[in-house]
Amino acid sequence: MSRDLLIREVEVEGRPGVDVRVAGGRIVEIGTGLSGREPDLDGRCGAVLPGLIDHHIHLFGLAAQGASVELDGQTSAEGISRALRTKAGELSPGEWLRGVGYHEAGGEPLDRRALDAMVADRPVRIQHRTGGLWILNSVALDRVADGETPQCVERDDHGAPTGRIWRGDDWLRGRLAGNPPSLAGASADLARRGVTGVTDASVTNDQAQAGVFAQAVAAGEWRQRLMLMGGGFLEAPADGGFQVGPVKVLLDDDRLPDLDAVCAIIAQARAWGRKVAVHCVAAGELAFTLAAFGQAGVEPGDRIEHGGIIYPDAAREIAGLGLTVVTQPGFVAERGDRYLAEVDAADLAALYPCASLMRAGIKVAGSSDAPYAAADPWTAMAAAINRTTRSGRLLGADERLSPRAALDLFLGDFADPGGPVRRVEVGAAADLCLLRGPLEAALADPDASWVAATVVGGEVIYRA
Ligand SMILES: [Zn+2]
Repeated sequence: MSRDLLIREVEVEGRPGVDVRVAGGRIVEIGTGLSGREPDLDGRCGAVLPGLIDHHIHLFGLAAQGASVELDGQTSAEGISRALRTKAGELSPGEWLRGVGYHEAGGEPLDRRALDAMVADRPVRIQHRTGGLWILNSVALDRVADGETPQCVERDDHGAPTGRIWRGDDWLRGRLAGNPPSLAGASADLARRGVTGVTDASVTNDQAQAGVFAQAVAAGEWRQRLMLMGGGFLEAPADGGFQVGPVKVLLDDDRLPDLDAVCAIIAQARAWGRKVAVHCVAAGELAFTLAAFGQAGVEPGDRIEHGGIIYPDAAREIAGLGLTVVTQPGFVAERGDRYLAEVDAADLAALYPCASLMRAGIKVAGSSDAPYAAADPWTAMAAAINRTTRSGRLLGADERLSPRAALDLFLGDFADPGGPVRRVEVGAAADLCLLRGPLEAALADPDASWVAATVVGGEVIYRA
């Protein structure tokens, strides 16, 4: 793949009719009437933007979801078979297919043979709706069992495994560790939305998991830039497959840890030369986190993840400490109706705030938290601008952003989300998102369908 490119006839920072020359993965020239022998991309007068960065995502969760099919509501073997075959058709050869929400609904219970008759050319595992039972086809059973026959693996009268595994989650998880889902589908979906980089915020990212990411990068399954958070030590590979991001601290409102323990984690992060990002969905988690940062000290780039509820007092404290908030406007759209029904009226104004944080001088960046919300920065932008729920109700009118500010949530650098936006300028990495039309038109109706091409380091990874 070439890292040289000539992008013709685009709009750059409001200026139409411009060409952009990329060499060795970086922008080297911006001007009119440029010519050269490098591969070219006809911009057709669309705007070219810095590629979007999703600053908080869980890639393997997203990939597992992408390789899963919901079987709840399928009442016949034919229905299950059709659903499995349709999903199988979307996956790479040999990739695992997972079904969830399965229930017999009065029919014959599924077993290995029945699954083989539906899908025989790839491993399939089906989770029963109760969570206590998995059913595997023969290919899947061969892959995970590997001669082992623990108690949880059910056998028929002749001693042959039926494919049913009862309460075997731990065994299965250990066995599946060597079979991570492919990141290719997630990478392609994000490329289609103009995303050129993500930060994987999973606390479970350790050096072994980092190796799995590095393999996906080396195999070309994952094509965007990648920053990994993780709960502990992480070392970046020499080939630059990923960058090491903040140390992630996951809190649970019901079981908050000892304050000194979290201060020790912050001190350890400093010793590793890393920032700290703390999960704060509930108000109690945020209060605890602010106390910890107050005691251990803040470095620029330390982050509050989610900011699910931020009261004005806490916002002032966040501003005073100099913390960044990495929020998910998509939750307002996707879960807003539930929030309106379930959250105390007094707390509604403090839900996933955005504009008020910026007014308080806080750096705010955007993300999806996919697979918990859609991995689509454009729907998140629309939610940040409109603050409307699925049923069309307004949630947090004072938190609405201008379209430009909503876009900027996704244009900060990895190392400084919510900080100065990256620009399309000479010397910058050629991580670019080319639109079908002028930026102003796209911002008037934010939608992924505006994306015409996505470029990472000069390589075109998506073209409409
Ligand atoms: Zn998350």
